[in-house]
Amino acid sequence: MGLLFKNGTIITASDTIEADLLVEGEIITLIGNNLDTDGHEVVDCSGMYLMPGGIDVHTHLELFDFGNTTSNDDFDTGHKAAAFGGTTSHIDFVIQPIGGTLHDGLDAWRKKSQHLAQIDYSFHMAVTDLNDDIMKEIPTLIDEGITSLKVFMAYKNVFMVDDATLYNTMRVAAEHGMIVMVHAENGDVEAALTPALLAEGKTTPYHHGVSRPPEIEGEATNRAVVMSGLTGCPLYVVHMTCEESIDALRRGRAAGYPVMGESCTQYFFLTHDDDLGADGFEGAKYVCSPPIRSKHDHNVLWQAVRDGTLQAVSTDHCNYWFEGGIGPWEEWQAEHKNTAWNTYEKQDPSYRRPGKERGKGDFSKIPNGMPGLEERMMVMWEHGVNKGRISANRFVELHCTNPAKIFGMYPKKGTLSVGSDADIVVFDPNKEHVLSVETTHMRTDYIVYEGWEITGKPVKVYQRGNLLVDGEEWHGKNGNGQFVARKPNAPVL
Ligand SMILES: [Zn+2]
Repeated sequence: MGLLFKNGTIITASDTIEADLLVEGEIITLIGNNLDTDGHEVVDCSGMYLMPGGIDVHTHLELFDFGNTTSNDDFDTGHKAAAFGGTTSHIDFVIQPIGGTLHDGLDAWRKKSQHLAQIDYSFHMAVTDLNDDIMKEIPTLIDEGITSLKVFMAYKNVFMVDDATLYNTMRVAAEHGMIVMVHAENGDVEAALTPALLAEGKTTPYHHGVSRPPEIEGEATNRAVVMSGLTGCPLYVVHMTCEESIDALRRGRAAGYPVMGESCTQYFFLTHDDDLGADGFEGAKYVCSPPIRSKHDHNVLWQAVRDGTLQAVSTDHCNYWFEGGIGPWEEWQAEHKNTAWNTYEKQDPSYRRPGKERGKGDFSKIPNGMPGLEERMMVMWEHGVNKGRISANRFVELHCTNPAKIFGMYPKKGTLSVGSDADIVVFDPNKEHVLSVETTHMRTDYIVYEGWEITGKPVKVYQRGNLLVDGEEWHGKNGNGQFVARKPNAPVL
C-alpha cells in the first residue's frame, strides 16, 4: 500500500504543477494526473501546496560555546522544532576539538545525534587546529559522507586560521572535490577592537555590533573569494550580512570564480540600532556573529537572493536562555565539567543552564547565537513570497533545492521527483498564525519574531514517507532520523 497525495499543487524550484504524488516505502514513485486510489491511503491536499522538506545547512545543536555553556536545543528538541517549521533535514557543524583529530570531533557528534535524531541530518567538519596530520586526514572524511569543511577567519587565538592555512586547506579540498565554507570576519581587527571598547566602558550588547563592523566582514569575504579563484576550490561563505561582503561575492562570481554564499533569516529583519541597541540588556537576545546590521543591508540581501548572488537561506540556529543560570548550576558545572546540562534541567522544571546573562557588563561574554530553526520557512514565505519579493519556486530553491545541490545530497533530498526521498511538506497557504515563544517547539525563553503574523504554514510534514507533524500533533520518534552521507564533486551554482 502506498501513500497518495491527491489534488495538491506541487511546487519545486522549477515548476508549479497540479498533480497527484504517490509514495511507496520511503520514496516518491509516481507523479501524475488522476492517479488511481486503489489500495492506497489517500491524503487529500485540496487547496494545499506540496513542497520538498526544507534543508537548513547551518545549525549548531548542543554546541559547547566559548561562553562556558551549551546551546539549548539538541538533536531531540531541535529536530522536533525544525519539522514543525517544515525543515526535514539539516547539516550541523562538527567542531574539531583543539589538540584532537577530525575523527575525535566526529565521534562526539555521532554520540550526540544518533540515538536522539528525529529528522535526517548530516555534518560539516569545522577544522580548528590544522597541522600536517590533519591535512592528511581531510580526504578520509569523504568515506564518512562528509564533503564540506568549515574554516574560521575570526575568533583569534581560538579557531582562527591564518591565510597560508586557509590557502592550503582549499588546495587539498579542491583536489578531492570538497567544498570549503568560511566564517568571514577579520579576526585580527576584531581582536583589537573588542578590548579597546571594553576599556572605554563600552560594554553593552550594542557594542558587540560595534566590535565587528561590516568592513571586516567585507574584507575577509574578499580574501576568501580571491583564494577560491587562486585554488579553484568551491567556496561557500556562511551567514553573509552586509553590502560589503555581498559586493565581494558578486565580484568573484562576475570573475567566474566558484564562489557561493548564504544569508540567515535574522539578517533580513533585525537591526543593530533597534534590536542590539534595545533598552537594558534586552539586546543580548540578538547577539550573534557577524552581528545584525541595518535596513539598508536588508535591502541588499533581498536583492542578492533575487538576482542569484546568494544561493541559500539558513539559520545559524544556536540558542541560549535569555535568563539562564537558575538553580545550583555552579555546583553542577564544577562536577560535570559543562556536560549533561539536559540532565541538570530535568531535575527541576525551573532549573536552567547559564545563558545570555553571562554577558551582563561585558558583551564579549554573551554566548553568540539565537533561536530560528523553526521559523525560517514561515518567516521567509511571509516576507519573501507573500510580499512579492521572490516567487514560490525561488523560495523552494533557496530553502530546499540549492542546499541539497551545493552539499551533495541532490536529488535524494531537496526536490519532489520520482526516486527522491518522500520528505514532503503539505503547506496551507491560507493558514494564519502568530509566532510566539508560547507556541514554539524550540527550547527557549524568547523568539526573535515574537508576535509576527504570518499567512502560510506547514500542516503536515513527512520524512521518507513517515508522518512527523499533523497539525499540532507530533508523531516523530527518537532514532528515526538518519545520517545522510553526502557525495563529493557537487555542482557550483
Ligand atoms: Zn554558525
